Order: sequence, then C-alpha cells, then structure tokens
Amino acid sequence: MLLHVASHNPKKLKELRRVLDAAGVAGIELVSSEDLLGYPEPVEDGRTFADNALIKARAGAKETGVTTIADDSGLTVEALNGMPGVLSARWSGKHGDDAANNALLLDQLSDVPHGRRNAAFVSVCAVVTPDGEEYVEKGVWAGRLVRTPVGANGFGYDPLFVPAEEDERVSGSDERPRTSAELTAAEKDALSHRGKALGLLVPVLVQLAAEAAARGEGVGPENNSALSVE
Ligand code: IMP
Repeated sequence: MLLHVASHNPKKLKELRRVLDAAGVAGIELVSSEDLLGYPEPVEDGRTFADNALIKARAGAKETGVTTIADDSGLTVEALNGMPGVLSARWSGKHGDDAANNALLLDQLSDVPHGRRNAAFVSVCAVVTPDGEEYVEKGVWAGRLVRTPVGANGFGYDPLFVPAEEDERVSGSDERPRTSAELTAAEKDALSHRGKALGLLVPVLVQLAAEAAARGEGVGPENNSALSVE
C-alpha cells in the first residue's frame, strides 16, 4: 500500500518509517507530499489538533487519491492555560522560527517557579482513505520546561522540555535529567507524543495494507497517477 505522509518535513516521514519498522509492519511504502504532484496546501485553521490533522489528511487523500496520514502537534503549557497549543509553530509570529518561539516562551515563563513549569507535547494523527474512512489517535508526552535551552537533537521546543521519564530516571542520583533534545531518535520515538499516536494507528495501517493487497494493489509508483516519480 502507498501511504502519503502529508508533510513537507522529511523528519516526519523518517519517524513514521521507524515506528512501522519497529512494529514489524511490511507492505507500506511511504511517499511524502514532495513525491506527489503539487496540490494547494489546505488552511490549518482548526481550533484543535484533531481539527488540523483531519484538515491535512482529508485534503491529502482528496487531492492525491492516496491514503493519507497527517499529524498536528504542539506544546501545551499549564501556566499558560494550555498555550501555545495549536499556535506552537508560530508562537512568536513567524511560522517555524524555533529559536524565536523558544525565546518568547522562556520570557513568558521567567517568573514561573520550578514546581509550576509543567507542560506536555500533544500529537493527533489522522489517517484518511480516498473512500473517506477516517481514523484519529492522540498521544501525550508529559514533562516540564527548563529555563535555558539544552541539546541539539530534535526540533522545536525539544531543548526546553524535560520528559517526566527523565526526572524519574535520575531521581535520587546526581545525574542531570536530559531534555528531549538530548535523547536519541529511538529514545524519543519510544516516549514521544507522536510515537504514541502513530503506534495506536499501526493496527489500522496494517488492516488497510491487507485490504489493499487483497485488491491487488502494489506499492510501486506505477500504481498511482498522482505520483510525480518517473
Ligand atoms: P507541526 O504539527 O509539525 O505543525 O508542529 C507544530 C509545532 O509544535 C512545531 O513547530 C514545534 O514547535 C512543536 N512541536 C511539535 N512536536 C514537537 C516535538 O516533538 N518536539 C519539539 N517541538 C514540537
């Protein structure tokens, strides 16, 4: 089965590949939006992560005729009543400017003491088929925010986020808990919001792949005219 990952971020495709491989799922070929003939980007104007994930997955399936997976994710901060939430990518006003987003968030939390810096990453992943079947799953990753960015892995707010599992791991020792920007990709997948949401969708993807195979659909680009791959 071909599965369109509705994202221009190559890291998301690689992450899904790792999740499928770790679950031993075969028979699913991932294609990015880059691999497909262009289609107009839908406006992500939903009020919730689920709204936006579905907007992206529905548009992808409709425009390409390929079963599509999309996610919407962000950071929810307790002291900010759940913000930045769906505004995470553009919190500072400039879409995707991680350094500016992080700097603004730290500034907003400068007076918030250690015990009140709880936060969680949230991801909602949606799968939509060309026939209009829809599947939605959510993953949450709890943690807290530090005062100074640490670590170079990952992206976005990772250098500010200490997962609850890290605090537990070092509890009672002198070791410093790592931020999610200090975890390896495999460590992050095993704990993260997106890893959890994708993991919950694995049975659905396995089922859809089995149905596609039963219909005699292969996985190669020759099977879909929306693919720009020669
Ligand atoms: P999107 O779902 O790719 O649009 O991501 C929204 C924003 O949420 C990103 O730009 C990041 O700022 C933040 N975000 C989502 N997931 C993560 C993560 O795993 N680490 C760090 N930041 C994240």
